[in-house]
Amino acid sequence: MAERRHRPGRVGVLGLQGDVSEHQKVLADLGAETVVVRRPGDLAALTALVLPGGESTTMSMLLESSGLDRELEKLVADGLPMLGTCAGMILLSAEALDGRPDQRCFGAIDLKVRRNGFGRQVRSFETELEVKGLDAPMHAVFIRAPVVEETGEGVEVLAEVDVPGRPGERRPVVCAAGPVIVSSFHPELEGDGRLHELLLKKVEGD
Ligand code: GLN
Repeated sequence: MAERRHRPGRVGVLGLQGDVSEHQKVLADLGAETVVVRRPGDLAALTALVLPGGESTTMSMLLESSGLDRELEKLVADGLPMLGTCAGMILLSAEALDGRPDQRCFGAIDLKVRRNGFGRQVRSFETELEVKGLDAPMHAVFIRAPVVEETGEGVEVLAEVDVPGRPGERRPVVCAAGPVIVSSFHPELEGDGRLHELLLKKVEGD
């Protein structure tokens, strides 16, 4: 009998703004059918949702104007498996510092994050990261990434980074809680699907 494979089903990629096609490509490589989500009707029968990197303030506004914000609230409450990278992490967190006052956070994972929190000198950087549960390091690309300021109860830290230019400061950069995984960086830009694979395992209930 063939090895048991994940049944990824229909995975939505929030397509209002940001690096949508990169996520689609990674998911397609894992055998998932992808749906670009731009309006509430696109959310029908999804087995998981990916929120890409981009600009969380813009995505927040577009979520409201499209009516997707209310649907996203419901999906979070229903426990739909979700992966958020960078701006997507900000949207899924409980609170964002240094955002717009009207910026929405959907509280899918109990994190307090600071937008662009790695500082001006290191707006972007790359590093090799050890991620719990993965057998080889991930090449992580950070682009004006959020810094995790606080992790709440039930949050598991899967990877941390030494903050460039701030000796002794380590911050969580991959976190998970229940059906939700978030990363401060962009695995999709490297074509690395291993966090997406973890997401698809959550679809199976592993
Ligand atoms: N700084 C962006 C924001 O606040 C996130 C950057 C990214 O997704 N690469 O939304």
